[in-house]
Amino acid sequence: MMVREDMRDKAPVVPKVIIACDFPDREKTLSFLKVFDKMNGILPYVKIGMELYYAEGPDIVREIKSKGFRIFLDLKLHDIPNTVGSAMKVLSRLSVDMTNVHAAGGSDMMKAAREALPDSTLIAVTQLTSTSEERMQRELLIERPLEETVLKYAENAKNSGLDGVVCSPLESPLIHGALGEGFLTVTPGVRFSGGEKGDQARITTPERARELGSDYIVVGRPITKAEDPLEAYLKCVREFSPS
Ligand code: C5P
Repeated sequence: MMVREDMRDKAPVVPKVIIACDFPDREKTLSFLKVFDKMNGILPYVKIGMELYYAEGPDIVREIKSKGFRIFLDLKLHDIPNTVGSAMKVLSRLSVDMTNVHAAGGSDMMKAAREALPDSTLIAVTQLTSTSEERMQRELLIERPLEETVLKYAENAKNSGLDGVVCSPLESPLIHGALGEGFLTVTPGVRFSGGEKGDQARITTPERARELGSDYIVVGRPITKAEDPLEAYLKCVREFSPS
């Protein structure tokens, strides 16, 4: 399929829709990414997570980067400060555009990560978008409301020198209101209206995510499992871009 002329110009200069490349190996990933060869110039931002990284190691990051994709390395580091700092130092050699840690690891851990990675965007996961308030209270024994927990984790991240957080689009207004518009909200949990929810709990459409002020949306299955992934990506870009 060729990309329609009128769609080619719709992708923003810095892509704000990040595609979660949750694939088990290099071959499947590269064959998926091939559909973007048809795009004119600006390639999507892609997210490499645990599945692909653990399968293929740092080489897959270098290879995708060398093709011109921007990379969000989503390994969600969470360990004692010294271990996270050392691991982040190693990851810093990959020169990815964005990476992350779990805010639940605490401020000293986030500061160690920041120190080890001064030059890339560093964000913290607040509460996973698959976690509902009920589950957080029942299983994790965090009795405060979910939004209060997310905001506290985001404040800790900001005070530790991080650039933003991963959260649900539903929490973007709260975080921007309290911590400023410049503090990034990178938001998974995005579904087209009427789409499959899967294991996600706190979800919105791309359009609603834009209205709520998300800076980036992270979209996996609605694009990777679509019959026409390129069209699904462009639909996300259209819905998420300001009209
Ligand atoms: O397929 P789907 O759109 O649900 O993919 C969402 C992606 O975002 C997954 O790769 C998941 O690991 C990631 N993610 C998330 N919630 C977070 C942090 C990351 O869903 N809080």
